[in-house]
Amino acid sequence: MSKKTIEKIKCACCGRNRLITRDFYKSASELNAYTGRLNICKECVQSRYERLLTIYNGNSTNAFRHLLMNLDEYFDEELYNSCVVKDGINFIGDYFRQVNGTKDRRDKTSLNNTSIPNENNDIKLEDGIISEELIDKYGEGYTASEYRKLERKYKIYSEHYPSKRLQEQEILKQLAELDLMKEKCRITGDKNGYDKISTQIRRTMEDLNVLPKQSTDDEDEMTLGNILKLIEYEEPIPMTSNEFDDVNKIEKIMDKYFVSPFKRVLGLKNKDVGDMNE
Ligand SMILES: [Zn+2]
Repeated sequence: MSKKTIEKIKCACCGRNRLITRDFYKSASELNAYTGRLNICKECVQSRYERLLTIYNGNSTNAFRHLLMNLDEYFDEELYNSCVVKDGINFIGDYFRQVNGTKDRRDKTSLNNTSIPNENNDIKLEDGIISEELIDKYGEGYTASEYRKLERKYKIYSEHYPSKRLQEQEILKQLAELDLMKEKCRITGDKNGYDKISTQIRRTMEDLNVLPKQSTDDEDEMTLGNILKLIEYEEPIPMTSNEFDDVNKIEKIMDKYFVSPFKRVLGLKNKDVGDMNE
């Protein structure tokens, strides 16, 4: 077999025939033993990562770990961190190059990642231990007690404003951060800063109110009001059709036992009641 015939393989995801050495990352997985490469191309790896990133609300570490589990690749947290620091969002190529290029890593696959992720992902800060998740959520630079405070404030806000939308959650997060800043100003006696932040908090709360309300589809709370609204929109009360018109014969009974006898008493027997005022 000439070398040329094995130079291209078909990407299992996008279906394009692509150059094996240029377009596919190396793989030590037994699932890819035949080609020694991943079965999806570099671009498809990138798209998959971006999709996972959305699912994990922007948590890059969790998204990337999930990606590597899917691809049966080895997740090395230290290497991942150094690649992210160096290359920002375009770290994937660098990670694969290095994970496959170093002797102690190149034969590893996801089977070497046996610890359960996220259970022990706590990070030690000067004043205590905090979960990596909280640092990802609020960004670096706070103390452990501040991260806890932020999370408590965020929870209070989200109880009052339960929201599934990223945009709204982001505003709630901002409110928690502003609250913390306000507290700092108060402690340091920065009256000016305190006033500015109070104004900012009020504006941010207004932002929350001007966001378009979620449609009724998103309201899974079945309060009485919502159910009534649903019925009114979906099943409005129809006009009476002829066959049901006066089904109990109320009109005839009224006529027989009230209108007619009174007409007779008042000497209007053969006149319509409506004529009485004439
Ligand atoms: Zn592809």
